[in-house]
Amino acid sequence: MFKSGFVSVIGRPNVGKSTLINSLLNQKVAIVSNKPQTTRKNMNAILTRDDFQIIFIDTPGMHTPKNNLGKYMVKKAKEVKSDVDLILFITTPEINMRDQDKTILEGFDKNIPVILIVNKIDENDQIRVAESLKNYSKEFDFKEIIPISALKGKNVDKLLEIILNYMQEGPKYYPDDMIVDAKERFLICEMIREKALILLSEEVPHGIAVDIVSMEDKENIVKIEAEIICEKDGHKGIIIGKNGDMLKRISTYSRQEIERLLDKKVFLKVWVKVRKEWRNDNTFIRDFGYK
Ligand code: GDP
Ligand code: MG
Repeated sequence: MFKSGFVSVIGRPNVGKSTLINSLLNQKVAIVSNKPQTTRKNMNAILTRDDFQIIFIDTPGMHTPKNNLGKYMVKKAKEVKSDVDLILFITTPEINMRDQDKTILEGFDKNIPVILIVNKIDENDQIRVAESLKNYSKEFDFKEIIPISALKGKNVDKLLEIILNYMQEGPKYYPDDMIVDAKERFLICEMIREKALILLSEEVPHGIAVDIVSMEDKENIVKIEAEIICEKDGHKGIIIGKNGDMLKRISTYSRQEIERLLDKKVFLKVWVKVRKEWRNDNTFIRDFGYK
């Protein structure tokens, strides 16, 4: 039986949501930082194995003032309530639960199971962790409670097993090799395509597509390799331009816009490829998200 489901990862800034998602996926997909507000927007990270697929929804960075944070989180929690199968509520060990955490819990839909994750046990002593587990358990009807260290990978395997218990039989929503939701990639493709179309004016009318070949989220920079695909050899020359000038301009303008989107420095490498008749190739078009 193939299982799948959507899991929302909710918690105050800096508790380790992105670190946990990265640890579960074993690769760096969500941006981790010691400054809050680094997760740009709802980011779906996808974990696919032979017999399951879990889509983790990381909550966005919070550009809201502290006093509004609680309200904001409640709103966020309400937004996700209808379409997730499970909530992972992440926090850190305190003797008593913080008011911010309590406010977040108040916003949860009682019909969705919630797992309490107490993270950063590596930097807290056992007594404090035990105390907090005991006290937190009184605050909400958690289905499970698990202490972990997302950073050191402690109990992360066990957590995954627990999560799987809450997944039902379901379809594979995304292809095997996709680790991050296509939305962001698609936006980036569209940005490059738009820049190319503007700069090329009428010379290569609409006969281009853009594909992201690779995208790596490093600590200080996002590395993106993209391909502009055109239909004719003649078009390739025009897109590259004299001494590569046109392609350079397309890359520069695209990079600037992608940096604004991702709110991070971007290294963008773009090259051009000819693929005749791509517009008539249905699988190709579907792959690229053009409907
Ligand atoms: P988010 O805002 O909830 O997504 O938090 P991040 O995942 O960006 O983590 C915030 C900071 O906490 C980063 O500096 C992480 O390295 C650190 N961190 C996350 N998990 C752990 C953990 O298990 N132990 C320790 N010591 N630090 C952690
Ligand atoms: Mg984050």
